[in-house]
Amino acid sequence: MSEASLKRTAEVFADEDTVELVPPMDGDRFREEFAPGRFLIYTRFNGQAFIHIREFVSKEGREYATKKGVCLTPGRLRALRERVARIDNLLTQLEAGTAYIAPVKRGDPLFKEHLGGTIFVTVSERYPGVNLRRYFQPSAQNIQTLPTKNGIYLPLAQWSSLKAKLDELYAEHPELSSAVECHMTHGGDQTEFFGCRECTPFGYDDVDCL
Ligand SMILES: [Zn+2]
Repeated sequence: MSEASLKRTAEVFADEDTVELVPPMDGDRFREEFAPGRFLIYTRFNGQAFIHIREFVSKEGREYATKKGVCLTPGRLRALRERVARIDNLLTQLEAGTAYIAPVKRGDPLFKEHLGGTIFVTVSERYPGVNLRRYFQPSAQNIQTLPTKNGIYLPLAQWSSLKAKLDELYAEHPELSSAVECHMTHGGDQTEFFGCRECTPFGYDDVDCL
């Protein structure tokens, strides 16, 4: 990795250290640490199920959530799980130096897929690992979406560890297996798809569970 790209990594990820107070998380059904300070949490909030993949910090005996993370619905988690094989295949190719694919859009990562809401999973050539991140669409244009600082970058070892915890989560909570990706629920109705904020999230104020 060149010095310039190392510097860029430091800038991009240092800015994410802003700490936010955790919303009350009563009734965690699953809470497992997959890397130091980083947790996979299955919880309910306001009657809805959410899966957090998030870094926490402790300050004066209290625990705070950081912006390093994403909040997934069961449908978004299903979307991620459906893409694990393709992600792993690409990571293997990148490690071996045999990846010949190109980004769909100029400036995008090699792999970029929508999980739901404003959250995307990406794999880029520069940082071996997996990024789970919110994106936004600058109002001045409506073509390219750009990454925000809300998200979590998982180096290869952490990605492996997370996948193992996800297997545990699905084994303990089989109801998650029946969740479907939102875009599958519109029956091919384009008007409904483009009117769905989960499927077509941009152009609205970003409201998420954290
Ligand atoms: Zn939808």
